[in-house]
Amino acid sequence: MLTTSQLKMLAAGGVEIGAHTVNHPILSRLSAGQAQEEIIDSRSHLEDILQQPVGLFAYPNGQPGKDYGDEHAKMLRAAGFTAVVSTAWAVNGAASDRYQLARINSWDKTPLRFIMRVADAFRRGLLADFPNM
Ligand SMILES: [Zn+2]
Repeated sequence: MLTTSQLKMLAAGGVEIGAHTVNHPILSRLSAGQAQEEIIDSRSHLEDILQQPVGLFAYPNGQPGKDYGDEHAKMLRAAGFTAVVSTAWAVNGAASDRYQLARINSWDKTPLRFIMRVADAFRRGLLADFPNM
């Protein structure tokens, strides 16, 4: 998706780059060893390019319990990542598991529409409710 020089330019501009596996597999379909390799190798490769630590990760596809499991969240925590995002659609709270953070996509045509959708998620109480690890 991005060239090495584009990644370096983004990082130099203050954008934090996170890992996302090497081959974009669905982690729940891999053995534990293969999943570990995808996670660790993607971070190592990015750290080699960026010459700085990579602490963030996004699960490929990212649906909790479908595309990844709690075992992958534990794997990422043990590997020293600081936070991981899923594609669960919700607002995170103080008790949210930071190795399975929810997100609200920002594909809206205007910032106001995005803000209204986030406000609606708060109003409806769509707080991410993953068990703490
Ligand atoms: Zn992806």
